[in-house]
Amino acid sequence: PEQWLRENSEDAVARNERWWKRSPRKPRAAIISLVRNEELEGIMQSMRQLEHHWNKKYQYSWVFFNEKPFSERFKAATSNLTSARVYYELIPIEHWSTPEWVDEDRYMNSLDYLGTIGVGKGWMLSYRNMCRWNSGFFYKHPRLRDFDYYWRVEPDVHFFCDINYDPFRFLHENNLVYGFNMNILDDARSFPTLWAKTVDFIQQHPDLVHPDADLDWLVDEQGEYNNCQFFSNFEIGSLNFFRAKENEKYFDWLDKHGGFYYERFGDAPIHTLSVAMFAPKQAAWFFRDIGYQHDINRHCPPHSEDRCSCQPTNLDENFYKLVPLESPQMKPRDTCIRQWLGSG
Ligand code: GDP
Ligand code: MN
Repeated sequence: PEQWLRENSEDAVARNERWWKRSPRKPRAAIISLVRNEELEGIMQSMRQLEHHWNKKYQYSWVFFNEKPFSERFKAATSNLTSARVYYELIPIEHWSTPEWVDEDRYMNSLDYLGTIGVGKGWMLSYRNMCRWNSGFFYKHPRLRDFDYYWRVEPDVHFFCDINYDPFRFLHENNLVYGFNMNILDDARSFPTLWAKTVDFIQQHPDLVHPDADLDWLVDEQGEYNNCQFFSNFEIGSLNFFRAKENEKYFDWLDKHGGFYYERFGDAPIHTLSVAMFAPKQAAWFFRDIGYQHDINRHCPPHSEDRCSCQPTNLDENFYKLVPLESPQMKPRDTCIRQWLGSG
């Protein structure tokens, strides 16, 4: 943690400027969003803020994905909010349908069961396809073939801070594969067998695990998964990392088991475990300088009033103060980020 504290965003900015001067070529990167026509207002809100705080200067393309064709109204309204290129992409049907090896009855039972016990969106068919697409398909879409990095944006999220550097360049220059800015506990009832399947995978394919992989922050004293995860509705990452055989084999392994349908495997724990297994710990980056909100989860960088329009909470301050994990100031769901900061 001491070392982490010294790495402040000014260093990041300076490094980026040096790299910009050396290498005038822009990273091949895009802002991507899976979104429905009905979420037009929400995505306009997210777009306005990200354009205002960052992309109006950097001009990265937006790529919108949908399993249904985008409406003319959707296209016109979103195109109007950016001067960068915009693409509207249909998801191939085979990327958004239940595979033939999934048993229909078991699947329907799981929708009933998770719905009844109150797992969030546990009863929704579309949510299962969405999680599976975000886990194993987004990086396979032909439109992304010419891109190396992506920034995932959802409707109705908030960006609070001016971002005066290029996070894509930052990833590229520092050999990072994944950037997050929130790290939370998810409802473990949505993926009861995910950890067992992951352990099986590691045992079957020890050669695929990165020699500097560090799963300590994800595993408790009993050797069980602690359910911490990068909150994947915000992520800035390397497409090539996800396209590599390690992640592909892991995704296929989970998919063949049917966990996207018999359970509600989320893309967040899967991305988290994949990054932890197939990349060194230092290849993931906490973008703590990017103020962000998704529903009730919010991250506001302290001491950044000059560039952020949010109010830091105790939790935000605590990231920097290194209060003990047991302290009453730490709430249980906030322990994940400290686990990550504290290990390795
Ligand atoms: P939550 O954040 O886990 O509650 O899930 P969301 O409902 O926000 O969905 C995650 C992302 O997938 C958002 O960008 C949604 O717009 C998108 N999404 C969810 N379901 C669908 C769907 O059926 N079709 C499309 N096109 N997008 C979807
Ligand atoms: Mn969401």
